[in-house]
Amino acid sequence: MKIIGAVDIGGTKIAVGAVSEDGKIIFRVDCPTQPELGFAAAINRIKSMLHKAAAHTGGDFEGIGVACPGPLDPSTGVIGVVGTLAGWEGGNLISTLEAEFRLRIAVENDADAATLAAATCGVGKGSSHLIYVTVSTGIGAGILLDGHLYRGFRGAHPELGHQIIDASSGSCCYCKASGCWESLASGEAIATWMQEQQPVPVRRTAAEICLLAEQGDTIALKAMDREGYYLGLGLANLITVFAPRTIVLGGGVMKSSHLFLPRTLNTLRDVCTQVPVENTTISIATSESETGLVGAAHAWLSKYAPPLGDASSISIPDQSVSLAILNSSGPN
Ligand SMILES: [Zn+2]
Repeated sequence: MKIIGAVDIGGTKIAVGAVSEDGKIIFRVDCPTQPELGFAAAINRIKSMLHKAAAHTGGDFEGIGVACPGPLDPSTGVIGVVGTLAGWEGGNLISTLEAEFRLRIAVENDADAATLAAATCGVGKGSSHLIYVTVSTGIGAGILLDGHLYRGFRGAHPELGHQIIDASSGSCCYCKASGCWESLASGEAIATWMQEQQPVPVRRTAAEICLLAEQGDTIALKAMDREGYYLGLGLANLITVFAPRTIVLGGGVMKSSHLFLPRTLNTLRDVCTQVPVENTTISIATSESETGLVGAAHAWLSKYAPPLGDASSISIPDQSVSLAILNSSGPN
């Protein structure tokens, strides 16, 4: 059984662990990212945690996989201008870890790594046409087509969160578009809309607003209805464009999916008419806290130890997944 060193870099936390090739986390240690201290300081902490993980598992790693927010170049390991990792631009995740450990290193955009984890051992296991969407502070996504991760030309990585959903909405995003998906359906969008409805603006987090909705607060319930609607419009675009077998929804906002998912599914049935929507299964990601590390390990496995000997991607046959919300509810 191969054991892979795994690194999951986030804006607030870095997780490092040892992961077996069947997706089990054998050892895990976390530390704050502290991006303001710079890339070199973070790499030193990562190296030290990797040595600790290797010592704990009693041997050498087969290799090391790293999941990191983009933009980054997965072929060179060089980080671009990442909003949550200010000042890390130009840092090289492959060369720095290769020099320390003398192992093969694989680096992947974190959304793509999560996509691999979902398709290989997560809720979308066995699906070769899968889109993984993370709805948290922002919206990120990864695309698996015909068993191959779709990275875009030169690894540019498609940004599905910035597809324009309602240009007349007036919600302007840092991407410069008005009414992109992230500006309308992310956790930040829920918080901003709710704040705008108050006579005296009060800033609440999306999680707090979901709790208010649970308690029957009228405006919070409207916020949930709006979330369901805009999430549905974005997903309808993905189904119409990609006709995927599976869409996996993860991220903090999806912990409250019972408050808005019915509206999302109704929206899908209303507007998604040109492809057989019933062929797409919508699943909610489970074991979210493990997705990053398992995804990082699978980034390495898919590059250096693919199951079918294909050196560039994994390839998995289609099969049913566990939570077929669309299929079980049926069309209106
Ligand atoms: Zn945007």
